[in-house]
Amino acid sequence: MSPIAACTVAVIGAGASGLAAARQLRREGHSVVVFEKESQIGGIWVYTNNTEPDPIGSDPTRITVHSSLYASLRTNLPRETMGFREYPFVAKKSGQRDPRRFPGHREVLEYLKDYAAEFGIGELVRFETEVSRVWRRECGKWEVRFRKTSGDGDGEVVCESFDAVVVCNGHYTVPRIAHIPGVDRWPGKQIHSHNYRVPEPFLNKIVILIGSSASAVDISREIASVAKEVHIASWSNSSEESTTLPGYDNVWLRPMIESANEDGTISFPHGFRISADIILHCTGYKYHFPFLDTQGIVTVDDNRVGPLYKHVFPPSLAPWLSFVGLPWKIAPFPQFELQCEWIAGILSGRISLPSQDEMMKDVEAFYDSLQASGYPKRYTHNMTGYQFEYNDWIATQCGAPKTEEWRKKIYHTTSLNRKARPENYREEWDDEDLVLQAYQDFAKHISCKQVS
Ligand code: FAD
Repeated sequence: MSPIAACTVAVIGAGASGLAAARQLRREGHSVVVFEKESQIGGIWVYTNNTEPDPIGSDPTRITVHSSLYASLRTNLPRETMGFREYPFVAKKSGQRDPRRFPGHREVLEYLKDYAAEFGIGELVRFETEVSRVWRRECGKWEVRFRKTSGDGDGEVVCESFDAVVVCNGHYTVPRIAHIPGVDRWPGKQIHSHNYRVPEPFLNKIVILIGSSASAVDISREIASVAKEVHIASWSNSSEESTTLPGYDNVWLRPMIESANEDGTISFPHGFRISADIILHCTGYKYHFPFLDTQGIVTVDDNRVGPLYKHVFPPSLAPWLSFVGLPWKIAPFPQFELQCEWIAGILSGRISLPSQDEMMKDVEAFYDSLQASGYPKRYTHNMTGYQFEYNDWIATQCGAPKTEEWRKKIYHTTSLNRKARPENYREEWDDEDLVLQAYQDFAKHISCKQVS
């Protein structure tokens, strides 16, 4: 099957990546249906107090809650860098909105709603419709099986055919847990940050928090305000010494745990042991596509989704199956936009892909280079240090402008500021000149409607 001018495309998920997909596909002239299992757009940015009954998510039959946000969450990227390229995330004047440079999660949801309204995306979305199976028929068409989860036709299972499927289901819902020898016999409680909402349940507890991501930094400080002690265990902390966190007398930085013991203690290297109440895993998430049936063509192996050409297309199914938003350690929204523009242009035949063989060779060379530099497989989609090079490569394929210089610089200065001022990088910064450049750029293409 060769690309045709306009395709019917199923997009799975109406989070930020699914919205970007719908926008770009429709702009290119394709006919789009977005399947969304929840009752509103926004994906991870739809905060809920609900948590899962299994706090570490090890039971595959558990009821899942999609969002992983905690109540106090503010963005870890400033709005200028975070926003879509064609629809900047500028502060709105309305009193209902959060104008801060690093706003709270509600503001991001409002922004995504504005984006959807601006481009008329809502009308493409089928809410409360969960995709349960996606597979390719011999004729090349894709079958999407879905189920209404409420309202008219609740529980009814239906199949529809499409020329192409774009997978936008997110990857911050299924917890990855640190392996701790002996933890099965340890009597304390374990929880993953996916199920963390507020600090109160940690009142007067001795908590071992594992991880060093942006969420781990936020959550450890928040818990420290109520907990008796917080011990941050991380592979990146020195194994030689344990220190207190500057500014706190109840938070310690520890090397990674050695074992959990039946008597309730946790052992660290060099003989240090402590009796603890809770282990909080801030250890990331697993890619998960329970609906995808590609007969083994696309697999998830130690968090590598592959084989995928440029993290998007499985070579033998390209361009009819694609994935948006797999990379991490990036500014996601602008990358989603570019990936989606690329997919849309390829589907219409405006942009071409290399041959299947060439794509496969490219994927293999990429995997070889990761292995040669000692990069673990689970970091395949970690784009530390090269997101803008990648984005600019896609932009060139699309004939789109490359990343703005201010966006790259703000991303970089924010990373440095976050390390230098982990407590207050959201309030104090030194890159006001770059912010000014960003707003001068925005002024060229934002509508009055967008700031009111
Ligand atoms: P999601 O937002 O997860 O959306 C996926 C959608 O697919 C959901 O609506 C879900 O209901 C739907 N879905 C899933 N399966 C099915 C199915 N079978 N059928 C139908 N629908 C389905 N990014 C930033 O830019 N700045 C930040 O500050 C930031 N902070 C973050 C903090 C935390 C704690 C986390 C977890 C992530 C953060 N991110 C941040 C990253 C964030 O995940 C991305 O910005 C982005 O929102 C991901 O969008 P997505 O559409 O790929 O996935």
